[in-house]
Amino acid sequence: MNVQHHKLSVHSCAVTSGTQRELISLHFGSAEHGKKVYIQSALHADEIPGMLVAHYLRQSLTALDAAGQISAEIVLVPVANPIGLAQEVYGTAIGRFDLANGINFNRGYHYLTPPLIAALEGKLGNSADVNVQTIRAEALAALQRWQPKSESEQMKKTLQTLAIDADVVLDLHCDNQAVMHLYTGTQLLPATLPLAARLGVQALLVCSASGDNPFDESCSRHWWELA
Ligand SMILES: [Zn+2]
Repeated sequence: MNVQHHKLSVHSCAVTSGTQRELISLHFGSAEHGKKVYIQSALHADEIPGMLVAHYLRQSLTALDAAGQISAEIVLVPVANPIGLAQEVYGTAIGRFDLANGINFNRGYHYLTPPLIAALEGKLGNSADVNVQTIRAEALAALQRWQPKSESEQMKKTLQTLAIDADVVLDLHCDNQAVMHLYTGTQLLPATLPLAARLGVQALLVCSASGDNPFDESCSRHWWELA
């Protein structure tokens, strides 16, 4: 396992002078095998079930990695929102919205389709595999051009950058009271049904564009829009 630390208080993004926060990503396996899986939990901070899943996943993946049994690259971010996790006001955890501006931590990611259409002009050919690599490289470049104006935006940029070239992205949330449910892009439904069945979901919600650029759609939406 390789552990990477990503500073969130860069340049003008620091909330308070002298403070520093970071995201931690855990990397298993190798990119040489082709497929990449990205899993994060608790984007709304106080979502403990996802963190618990990540805790056990980390143990299993560490053992499998040591035994050379991971035939993919797997990136795990158990605590996707350290900013929200620190937002405890008078004993109450407030993890859904950034107290600095009221913006949902799962909104405001970078919508990649417009810059990709411009950047890909004349660059795509007949090979789907080569096109995928080209699109991923341009998506990464578009994210690198993003100039965050706050610590939260820096966090969103970091999460999206870690996930943007993955074949599978899983974003683990929870609710106060809910049965097991799953959201996905309408176009991803066929690929998602086996996972939904294994999880025993009682509700499966689909949408092509649910608005304001949530994390999951910001990793997937440009693929069907470009297609
Ligand atoms: Zn959530």
